[in-house]
Amino acid sequence: MANWDLLLTDVRIATMQRGAAGYGAIEDGAIAIADGKLAWLGPAADIPDLTAAETRSLSGRWITPALIDCHTHLVFGGDRAAEFEQRLQGTSYEEIAKAGGGILSTVRATREASPDELFDSAMRRAQIMAADGVATIEIKSGYGLDVANEIKMLEIARRIGETSGLSIQTTLLAAHAIPPEFEDRRDMYIDLICDELIPEIAARKLADSVDAYCETFAFNPEQISRVFQSAQSVGLPVKLHADQLSDGHGAALAARFNALSADHLEYASAEGIAAMGKAGTAAVLLPGAFLTLHETQLPPVDHLRNNNVSIAIATDCNPGTSPSCSLRESMALACRLFRLTPEECLAGVTREAAVALGLEKDRGTLEVGKRADLAIWDINHPRELSYWLGVRPLADLLIAGRTVNLN
Ligand SMILES: [Zn+2]
Repeated sequence: MANWDLLLTDVRIATMQRGAAGYGAIEDGAIAIADGKLAWLGPAADIPDLTAAETRSLSGRWITPALIDCHTHLVFGGDRAAEFEQRLQGTSYEEIAKAGGGILSTVRATREASPDELFDSAMRRAQIMAADGVATIEIKSGYGLDVANEIKMLEIARRIGETSGLSIQTTLLAAHAIPPEFEDRRDMYIDLICDELIPEIAARKLADSVDAYCETFAFNPEQISRVFQSAQSVGLPVKLHADQLSDGHGAALAARFNALSADHLEYASAEGIAAMGKAGTAAVLLPGAFLTLHETQLPPVDHLRNNNVSIAIATDCNPGTSPSCSLRESMALACRLFRLTPEECLAGVTREAAVALGLEKDRGTLEVGKRADLAIWDINHPRELSYWLGVRPLADLLIAGRTVNLN
């Protein structure tokens, strides 16, 4: 019997290992896979004298860790293209909201859609993401806003993982917006989340983490603290939509609960970022939403760097503020809008995105023992992954050592 299932030769490898300079690159390398994990990698000259069931020469192509989209709202009913057009024709957000538009129109469409309709549209988006090199996708609920529909969304997210072969991480985001039925009694909605929804999804193992939206028009820190305490009481880690449109002290709140990540952060204070650094809470930057909302307040990238905060990048795929299914487009935008370097951007969708999901022991870099999630690219250097716009350089995607069908 062979020692390895698969040996990839004549490859250039960007290991993205923490602390390694220059993408952790290995020129003229080889990678061996056994039982879905990386069994060996290094310069071709050092390949151990072992046997492989299959050997593939990749003609000098680059291999990076498969990409990880650590913040999406992939499951939703309908779209908001008409609203997008109206806003650019001069209609204000308030007028659109009064006419039944905005996030509550997505809530309505999601509640009305059948599970199969929601599954089909989300599955299409997941496949588009995979064609850009993404193997792991985090999917949030948050357009159901009642027990039955939040559960429906999480079940669909789980089904996408089971059907597609992609790795799906699910997040309960019931505290995303105020449901219309609870407009004047927000604390009672928080009661519902803490007393009914979280115990139910924990018992059925439907979510891997719990998220909330901290903003003046959404939920305040006291309400979010209750949701987080409830999540942690059943062993679920938390994350937070924080300081996107104003400084609501979301970064510090996330750090206080040792959140996996605080996401957006355009208005986060220096103190909040320092607290995140101490707590090991990752920052997830979402340039697609920044672009779509015509934001001008940049996230505090230098503070994040100086406090050694993990900087991840994600699509925030959602119908209202970031209708994007391309994580490579997010990398390109993060370079251009936030002035991240191409290497920071690749780390942001691999190593640091794994940190933002609590998966860093299992994936995000190419190191022996980690899952063999590999993106194989037709490029001359990994910096091109942030450079090109509108190009699809992915040659192959492997998840746990198996090639994913991208059609
Ligand atoms: Zn979001």
